[in-house]
Amino acid sequence: MHPPRLVLATANEDKVVEIRRLLPGIELLPRPDDLPEAVEDGATLFDNALIKARSLVESTGLPAVADDTGLEVDALDGGPGVHTARFAGPDAGYTENVDHLLEVLEGALDRTARFRTVALVLTPGEPPVWAEGSVEGRIAEEPRGGGGFGYDPVFIPVEGDGRTFAEMSEEEKNAISHRGRAFTALAARLAEM
Ligand code: IMP
Repeated sequence: MHPPRLVLATANEDKVVEIRRLLPGIELLPRPDDLPEAVEDGATLFDNALIKARSLVESTGLPAVADDTGLEVDALDGGPGVHTARFAGPDAGYTENVDHLLEVLEGALDRTARFRTVALVLTPGEPPVWAEGSVEGRIAEEPRGGGGFGYDPVFIPVEGDGRTFAEMSEEEKNAISHRGRAFTALAARLAEM
């Protein structure tokens, strides 16, 4: 049985748009404005997704859906990983993070990378239901495209035609993306319950 309603742990509008498309038929309530951000200090994507969901479940008493994504660059030994959101510093925005990534990879021949997402539903008093999704790709030499968000302008998925995620339509990105895969798998698990 589907949980009747899930509170979204993220207030990131870019992610909210994607998640709504990826969980059709599930009522998603926005994150309450007055909640402080959970401190994402977990060692893994799963830990961080659980931290976000747990803080929301504790404050609302409702089932929550949370996700956590990391960009894993092989030349950086899998980094920035859990530090993806703040790669260029504590207050870094998308542009600073992308610029920093291009800087540290300057001249690197191995630019292989992947996005990995853990998506998770936590219902009060029950163990989490979760799923993972990933997409292989490589980091472009310079940003391309105006769509998507985050590192999309420099991520070229191997399953594509050489375009970055930011050059693809939302549908094209969702069909092969880390978040698309994680939430599709999560929706299937919820449907089995
Ligand atoms: P979060 O754990 O989902 O908040 O993601 C951490 C960081 O990864 C975000 O701040 C973005 O910089 C980046 N990120 C997450 N999802 C995507 C995506 O689909 N494309 C590009 N960057 C992403």
